[in-house]
Amino acid sequence: MKKIQMVDLKGQFATIKDEVNESLQEVLESTAFINGPQVHNFQKELEDYLGVKHVIPCANGTDALQIAMMGLGLKPGDEVITADFTFAATVEVIALLQLTPVLVDVEPDTFNIDPEAIRKAITPKTKAIVPVHLFGQTADMDAIMEIAREHNLYVIEDNAQAIGGNFHSKENKTYKTGAIGDIGATSFFPSKNLGCYGDGGAIFTNNDELAHTIKGVVNHGMYERYHHDVVGVNSRLDSMQAAVLRAKLPRLDKYNEARRQAANKYDQAFKGQEHIVTPFLKGAPDTHVYHQYTLQITNGKRDALVKHLQANDIPCGVYYPIPLHKQKAYADERYNEADFEVTNRLVKEVVSLPMHTELEDDQIDHITKAVIEFVNN
Ligand SMILES: *Cc1c(COP(=O)(O)O)cnc(C)c1O
Repeated sequence: MKKIQMVDLKGQFATIKDEVNESLQEVLESTAFINGPQVHNFQKELEDYLGVKHVIPCANGTDALQIAMMGLGLKPGDEVITADFTFAATVEVIALLQLTPVLVDVEPDTFNIDPEAIRKAITPKTKAIVPVHLFGQTADMDAIMEIAREHNLYVIEDNAQAIGGNFHSKENKTYKTGAIGDIGATSFFPSKNLGCYGDGGAIFTNNDELAHTIKGVVNHGMYERYHHDVVGVNSRLDSMQAAVLRAKLPRLDKYNEARRQAANKYDQAFKGQEHIVTPFLKGAPDTHVYHQYTLQITNGKRDALVKHLQANDIPCGVYYPIPLHKQKAYADERYNEADFEVTNRLVKEVVSLPMHTELEDDQIDHITKAVIEFVNN
């Protein structure tokens, strides 16, 4: 059996090596390191793939979220509702822009933001909702878009973990995640489903005016050279990263399918296990791209299991061990523990197993046997 990796970037690279080397060589020889043709071509190709009018590449996923909020003109004091159970980047940029983060609980089955909790958190100051398609599963966008329309709120999708996933609306329309709300933000961090070989990110929107605003924001607030109309930032995807992404984008559907197959095999192996809850798939199979394969261990043995797996060379991860509302940086007396029942439980129960495009059957066998044996003893 090959050594088990949490994410096997080496194995994946081996399958695209010639193509990536060639396009990187091209960038080197052209010396068009910034805003070169690779960036422009990738932008167009991603627009086509997502079926979205505008993709604006930027330096990373955290920037993408921040720039989205700047582009929408959110002002200090505006309240932005997001999930308590997610990576900190989402709440970090809200706080950095001096907006007021309002953390709410998630659904117990999908781990995604709970529409009922959003409703309860809305005040006259609420301006936006940031759903995160956590671990690769599409959030309940029908309900979220309905709430947003009712209360005149922006929707910014944090699509860092779900690129390539689908959403089938109740009107029977199919969208790519990130292309549903007013604006989508994604990350091309190496371990994401579409990852580059460094940092990268992008913002998506179908709104022409918003796209124009954002193209200035990412470039020092310039719409005309050396005329700075708004306070902007410097956030670019570089040409080398775009070259890598161009090689991987045509394979993204295949990559996501490989993740689904690995998830199915895990599911089969854990079937009938009393203390192991496998990921809940709420919609059609194409609404989950398994950025993570996350179990809940319900008999109190999660922490011991993590130690056991690590001691046996089986990598695993706890995403996330502390609810955001309990983090020092984001704690606030407004919060009431009773409102975070699900997140408070999940942080003690979740464990994510190795998930990537190169997982082999004997590795999955080995991992699932080790988990089942330990949890039941
Ligand atoms: C990875 C991630 C981000 C941040 O992306 P970076 O490119 O690392 O800045 C934001 N939100 C979520 C949910 C993520 O998983």
